Amino acid sequence: MRYDLIIIGAGPGGLTAGIYARTRMMKTLILDAAEIGGQLVSLYPDKAVQNYPGYERIQARKLSDKMYAQAESMDCEIRDREKVNEIRGGNDELVVITDKGQYHTSSVIVATGMGMFKPKKMGCKGEEEFENKGLCYILPPKEDLIGKRVVVFGGGNSAIEMALIADSVAETTIVHRRNEFRCDESNTMALNASNIRSIMSSELVSVNGDDAVRSVTLKKGDETFDVEADLVVILIGISADLEDLKRWDLELTKDGLLKVDDAMCTSRNGIFACGDVIDYDGKYKQIITACGEAATASNSAYKFVKKPYWA
Ligand SMILES: Cc1cc2nc3c(=O)[nH]c(=O)nc-3n(C[C@H](O)[C@H](O)[C@H](O)COP(=O)(O)OP(=O)(O)OC[C@H]3O[C@@H](n4cnc5c(N)ncnc54)[C@H](O)[C@@H]3O)c2cc1C
Repeated sequence: MRYDLIIIGAGPGGLTAGIYARTRMMKTLILDAAEIGGQLVSLYPDKAVQNYPGYERIQARKLSDKMYAQAESMDCEIRDREKVNEIRGGNDELVVITDKGQYHTSSVIVATGMGMFKPKKMGCKGEEEFENKGLCYILPPKEDLIGKRVVVFGGGNSAIEMALIADSVAETTIVHRRNEFRCDESNTMALNASNIRSIMSSELVSVNGDDAVRSVTLKKGDETFDVEADLVVILIGISADLEDLKRWDLELTKDGLLKVDDAMCTSRNGIFACGDVIDYDGKYKQIITACGEAATASNSAYKFVKKPYWA
């Protein structure tokens, strides 16, 4: 069997590309190495997304579930936990090789986001020892935070948004190594209006405890002091793992992301791309931009495969 289109990655970009492809009746398979939903489910499932049009506020997991349901209802074939390792072939047919099998297709859209991303680590004393014993890199579900003393590390939107979630059920502190947060103004306002304690210009020296986390030691200038904690959440960014792209014989930017033209075509015939995995001047990594680029990528794949008279 041969697909018209195989989409690699089922985040907002990949799912939207699938929805658009099915409006053109393209036989479409979407593959994801992890859970369907991309960063929305793996990094911030409980966060309220406030900038996706049509929803004043929607929990990230719910938004992703809606995209997933829409793609499924339009008969996209969707497989989770199947990692793409290679894309072989040339102009007439591409073969997508995964860790479970291989699929023949006329076109491919790469929507792999930040790849098999991992959270950035602090590299401080106690970090490894207490991982999963009260130290984590993704905020646990709200129910697990009730009554705890939560200390969040980071100064960007993610750290503040997660601290705001924690603040609704737990005593929460946010620690940032600079004297100013790097976030949207709406988050600064929400933080100022909350009960969150902010500790600025401070570095994490160590995470301390016995069988679980009990405190963190911070350093501010020459002063060293302890803050009691039951849960330490480190949200200082994610490291992209873009190794897969190197094997796919596609032209990359100096940062290892994919180069595309205005129609979302990569340097390989029949392979298109969208979302966080691509870069161009003015690129803004957001759900809505991933979805917009996906519509273009899907349209380009349609023209490439079906060659309509008007294209
Ligand atoms: C903490 C945080 C909060 C954010 N909040 C917002 C917000 O409020 N609003 C907003 O608009 N944006 C927000 N963003 C940004 C937004 O999540 C991303 O821009 C968006 O997820 C990009 O979508 P994508 O489909 O390109 O990639 P992703 O969501 O990264 O999905 C890519 C998928 O590809 C899969 N994959 C990778 N490699 C392979 C492979 N080899 N084979 C198969 N599958 C593979 C991955 O498993 C993943 O599921 C936030 C980001 C973070 C980190």
